[in-house]
Amino acid sequence: MSELNDNMQRYHRQMAFGEIGLTGQRTIQASSAIIVGVGGLGSWIAELLVRSGVGRLIITDNDKVDITNIHRQGLYDQSHADAAEPKVTAAARRLAEINPAVTIEPRQLRLDAGNIAELVGRANLIIDGTDNFHTRFIINDYAVKHSLPWIFAGVVSAEAQIMSVIPGQTACLRCVFDAPPPPCSDPTCRQAGVLGPAVATIASMQAIEAVKILSGRSDAISPVLTKFNFWANTIQRISATKSPDCPCCAAGHFDYLNA
Ligand SMILES: [Zn+2]
Repeated sequence: MSELNDNMQRYHRQMAFGEIGLTGQRTIQASSAIIVGVGGLGSWIAELLVRSGVGRLIITDNDKVDITNIHRQGLYDQSHADAAEPKVTAAARRLAEINPAVTIEPRQLRLDAGNIAELVGRANLIIDGTDNFHTRFIINDYAVKHSLPWIFAGVVSAEAQIMSVIPGQTACLRCVFDAPPPPCSDPTCRQAGVLGPAVATIASMQAIEAVKILSGRSDAISPVLTKFNFWANTIQRISATKSPDCPCCAAGHFDYLNA
C-alpha cells in the first residue's frame, strides 16, 4: 500500500484487515452516521468512528459537560467541566483535532419524535448513545419505518446490553422489548452508578458494529441481544429473532414516532 497518499496512509492498519480492505475503507469514508447523545457511550463511539474515517458524523446532545461526566466520557476534560461547555461543541473541537478529514456536525438538541427526521437527514446509520428507553423506541420506529440500521446499547452499574438492528434482516427493539420500562424501574447512572470501563467497552462494541455496517458488511452482524455483567464476568447471548407479532416491524405501527 506504498502508493497510498497521506490521507489514506492514516487508515493503513484498518485496510490491512482483510474484511475491510481498500473497498471497505472507501465505503466508510463515503458514509455518514448520527450519534444520539455524546455522553458515556457516544463520546467514545464518536472518537472511534472519527479515527476510522467515517465521512460525516452528526452528534446531538443538549447537555453541558459536568465534573461527574469525566470518569466515563472520553472526549471531555477538566477544562470543559470548569467552563460548563456544551458537550457537542467540546466534542466537535476534539474530534476535528483527531481527524480533520471528517465532517463533524454538532447539533445542540435533544432528539425527539418531532426533530428526528431533520436530525438524521441522509445519515446511513443511527447509533444509540442515549440514556433512556423512550428515546430508543422513537429511534427504533424511525429506523424501521425508513429501513435504516441502528445500534442499541445501554449500560448501568456494571451491566450492559447491546443489539444491532438491521430492518428487514434482524429483530427490531420491539421484537425483544414490548415497551419501555416504566420510569421508576429504569435505573439511571445517577441512581445506580456506572463503571467507566464498562461504558468504554460497550461503546467500543457499538463502534465495531458501526464499522461493519458503514463498510458495507452488514452480513457480519449477528442477530443477538448480548448482555454483560462485567463485575461477575458473565456474558449472555440471547437469540433475537423477528417476531411475527411485533407491532413495529411486522404490523407497521410506529406508536412512539407518532405520539
Ligand atoms: Zn420488530
